[in-house]
Amino acid sequence: MSWFKRPNPNLQPDDDGEPNGDGDVNSGQDFGAESTFAPVSDDGSPTRVRTEGLWVKCPGCRQILFKAELEANLHVCPKCGHHFKIGARQRIDLLLEPGYSLVDGNLRSTDPLNFTDIKTYKSRLAAAQKQTGLNDAIITALGQLGPHAVVLSAMEYTFIGGSMGAVVGETIARAIDRSLATRHPLVIVSASGGARMMEGVVSLMQLAKIATGLAQLDEARIPYICVLTDPTTGGITASFAMLGDLNIAEPGALIGFAGPRVIEQTIRQKLPEGFQRSEFLLEHGFLDAVVPRAELKSYLIRALDFMKN
Ligand SMILES: [Zn+2]
Repeated sequence: MSWFKRPNPNLQPDDDGEPNGDGDVNSGQDFGAESTFAPVSDDGSPTRVRTEGLWVKCPGCRQILFKAELEANLHVCPKCGHHFKIGARQRIDLLLEPGYSLVDGNLRSTDPLNFTDIKTYKSRLAAAQKQTGLNDAIITALGQLGPHAVVLSAMEYTFIGGSMGAVVGETIARAIDRSLATRHPLVIVSASGGARMMEGVVSLMQLAKIATGLAQLDEARIPYICVLTDPTTGGITASFAMLGDLNIAEPGALIGFAGPRVIEQTIRQKLPEGFQRSEFLLEHGFLDAVVPRAELKSYLIRALDFMKN
């Protein structure tokens, strides 16, 4: 295993910013990600070739996993059951039958505050759009969840932390309108760090807009199911992610409003083990169920069978 111990400057530590050292498929340490093979380009200068990594380290059990095996297992660690984050498009493919249609993907943020921190918000948006191929941090699809026609919105965490600005808010509001018009149940899969600070108060206005729409859905007696995935925090937890007729989560998902460090400093107490994870929230009555990814689709179908009868 000497190759494994050899210091390699190209191996970057997990830098997804989470204090628990958790990571996803893309930010996990990627052994063998860079080829040492150095061919020469047309003009004679050496070029570097990046080959796709075959292995990924599980943040749950620290085992090295074969990527293809992980993908075949729905991005759930076969050794310890750790649920890796997955993208919005993968989520839709996982839940809906083939032949669904994507809608409302053409909205783009106008940068209403002309916001700049260390980078301009416009450049952050452009980079995220290039990286994900999406216009913002959400996709809505119309399709069949087993026998049930549904409106499904899934959030994309890799797009500026899945944060909610005007576009995410408006996309969800339109998904609610589609549910109201067709009477098809609404399912929202959340994965978000909260409101998008670069849109300031505009992103907070979305909370009221969405909550009002969900109240209309409730009055019309149309089912609304929330699926909380890792992570669901901040203004998302404080609004639509907890307003479902049924609120379910994937195992081990971080779910909370403020982060644990902020809470510890405020209340000056040590927080209990597993605080803000799905299982803890289920035990304390904030969730209706914790459902493993492999069972999610059949669980949702059964829930809709029950709700629609
Ligand atoms: Zn594992």
